[in-house]
Amino acid sequence: MATNLARVAKDRGIKYFLISFVDLFGGTRAKLVPARAIGEMQKAGAGFAGFAAWLDMTPADPDMFAVPDADSLVQLPWKPEVGWVAADLWMDGREVEASPRIVLKRQLARAAKKGYRMKTGVECEYFLTTPDGSAISDPSDIQPKPCYDQQALMRRFPVISEICDAMIELGWGPYQNDHEDANGQFEMNWDYDDALKTADRHVFFKYMTKSVAESHGMRATFMPKPFANLTGNGCHAHVSLWSKDGKKNLFLNKSDDAGLGLSKLAYNFLGGVMHSAQDLCAIFNPTVNSYKRINAPVTTSGATWSPNAVTYSGNNRTHMIRVPDDGRFEFRLMDGAVNPYLGQAAMLAAGLDGIANKRDPGKPVHLNMYTEGHKVKAAKTLPATLLDALRLLERSKALRAAMSDEVVDSFIKLKMREWNDYTAHLSEWERVNTLDI
Ligand SMILES: [Mg+2]
Repeated sequence: MATNLARVAKDRGIKYFLISFVDLFGGTRAKLVPARAIGEMQKAGAGFAGFAAWLDMTPADPDMFAVPDADSLVQLPWKPEVGWVAADLWMDGREVEASPRIVLKRQLARAAKKGYRMKTGVECEYFLTTPDGSAISDPSDIQPKPCYDQQALMRRFPVISEICDAMIELGWGPYQNDHEDANGQFEMNWDYDDALKTADRHVFFKYMTKSVAESHGMRATFMPKPFANLTGNGCHAHVSLWSKDGKKNLFLNKSDDAGLGLSKLAYNFLGGVMHSAQDLCAIFNPTVNSYKRINAPVTTSGATWSPNAVTYSGNNRTHMIRVPDDGRFEFRLMDGAVNPYLGQAAMLAAGLDGIANKRDPGKPVHLNMYTEGHKVKAAKTLPATLLDALRLLERSKALRAAMSDEVVDSFIKLKMREWNDYTAHLSEWERVNTLDI
């Protein structure tokens, strides 16, 4: 029996609910519903015109309903009279196939049928900028190597501690906050958990960070590469598969010959992710701007910290996949623009394909990919632009087999429009380099 949100509202003093969903582009949409109406909304959902969000719908389509998942309820720590709930989209009495949260739930159900439960943790890097987003918010943060800088971190203590206190209150188990590798960039880590819970928290974390930053007169951005000379915003994911009861880590093998502490199942999953990485890049790196983070030239700090090829290694951050510890791996390809649900769904779909087809990732590469990448001749390179990535996604067999064509086609259709819109703009670079030809 689902939690009765009307009763929770009375008990916890919630006056309004944000019934929230994420569209195909990762944008968060919501209706603000007074507690007096939540009982009805919990049954029937909040009505939306699907075409008005980034979903592949037309103005002629009937109402789409966002049905709140009461288990995802978060009472806003900075505004306790409001409760936020993630919702699943329905239309004509059916779940909307091309809606991100449903897509992830479907992949998790496929994994569960085989006895697997995916647990993940995400590292959402972000910048604190001026309100218009044109510069970082702290003019004193100018060091060429600013990572872990104590002084710059503590100048932002009011923002960081407010977000961290909120995560403590919500029971997420936050355990560290730092200044990251770019000026004005930060990262906050909380405990890993079941993939859906992590995805919902990822959505909420972005909302919370933006809201708290705004209340301090700043702007928080997860944009993949907001400043050309600085390290971009990654969204690294730590991944493991567990037994259905969540007690046994199926990726763990202490006596792994390669010394990485991974099981055969983990290597096959990893092999699947590597097999499909190029094809799924459009989902992991979904914006025009994403391709300025991966394959990027060296930044002022000396490294981009983003991958440039499809390789894996032990505890070495120059690879697409790093194995930092026994029983899990870190997938470093996704960026701050990734859709929290689609990113994990695509990763799981690729991993399950790897298990089903016993895909072999080969031997780990123990080289510095930034300086010695040319020695790894067989390594596949990542697409150079969103257009390249969309063309690869279009013909991805593994993803099409695992997900419905509907979501793949809808995503490509809307993203191709975005690409065409981008290329229709004349840039200053073009003018400078072409005017006198
Ligand atoms: Mg980081």
